[in-house]
Amino acid sequence: MSTLTYKCPSCGAPLIYRGDTQTLDCGNCGNSFTGETVRQVAEIDSQESGSINWEMQGTEYSKQEADRTRTFSCTSCGAQLVTDETTVATNCAFCGSPSIIPAQFTPGTRPEKVIPFLVKKEEAEKAFHQYFRGKKMLPNAFLKGNNQISKIMQLYVPYWLFSCQADADITYNATQVHTRRSGSYLETITRHFLVRRAGTIDFQDLPIDAHSRIDNTITETLEPYKTEEAIAFSPEVLSGAMADRADVSAEECKQRADSRITETTESVMRQTVSGYTSVTPRRQRISVPQGKSAPVLFPLWQITTIKDGKPYTFAINGQTGKLTTNIPYSRGKYFGWALGIAGASAVLGYVAVTLLLKVGGI
Ligand SMILES: [Zn+2]
Ligand SMILES: [Zn+2]
Repeated sequence: MSTLTYKCPSCGAPLIYRGDTQTLDCGNCGNSFTGETVRQVAEIDSQESGSINWEMQGTEYSKQEADRTRTFSCTSCGAQLVTDETTVATNCAFCGSPSIIPAQFTPGTRPEKVIPFLVKKEEAEKAFHQYFRGKKMLPNAFLKGNNQISKIMQLYVPYWLFSCQADADITYNATQVHTRRSGSYLETITRHFLVRRAGTIDFQDLPIDAHSRIDNTITETLEPYKTEEAIAFSPEVLSGAMADRADVSAEECKQRADSRITETTESVMRQTVSGYTSVTPRRQRISVPQGKSAPVLFPLWQITTIKDGKPYTFAINGQTGKLTTNIPYSRGKYFGWALGIAGASAVLGYVAVTLLLKVGGI
């Protein structure tokens, strides 16, 4: 018998080895365990929490590319916009202000890919007019008279797309509680389990927005974009449109990706643990050994209409034509982003359940 002291997996008190039964017994809670069970629990409890690693694929603009772009900045709202050399900006794509001035090109993250505009300007305008048809729930101002477009802007919005395989190994403390009548007594039996789940979850092109100027509820409502249709970036792709320069750092986007991946993985794994009265995580390791992330531009039509002196925004996904607006009562707002998990439950590598102990008590 080694001199190593094992702790009771159930209550944490020191265990004592019994030679006759070859078990490790707890003098505190009365349970007894096999050496194998105790060894497994010790291994789980000493597990490290794992780390998430990303290769951020952003590069810089080449000298030639920089020469083929134009940069503008808005003195009214501070937006930084990039377009190709043939496009002239007259108004700020965000605040509509004409106080937009040519600016010095500043090196920054160069987009790797762009999703091109498939929705034409006429189609975006048509979608705007069609929106009002048959909608009786709109505020009165929109129901009488014509709704005019006061401004329409073709915008590229910066995102990072994160792809990875997340390896997860999570152990839960679980109980099953049963009550039964035994003569004149009511007997409550609590069985304790250590439930272990491990597996791999694939994340494909998880979008994290790198802009703060456009309301996130608007851009999230426009998702999903079909990222597999993205093409390689070159300044010409921007012709006629304005690209917003990312104003959220790659580091911050990375942190947001980390927490989304961790939360999703926790929830997917937790869903596989059922049939217990209570389940609480005991130990977890979520690691991403080789994640990749690339900067990308998403296409968006932004339409402003003014009613009773107040501006309202319409945004249309430039790839799919999906529309959203901040007009009250809009249903468009309530679509969420569908999780980019490729067959999460199907890819769970292995699922192991370790039965720990059974406790009978009154
Ligand atoms: Zn104990
Ligand atoms: Zn502006």
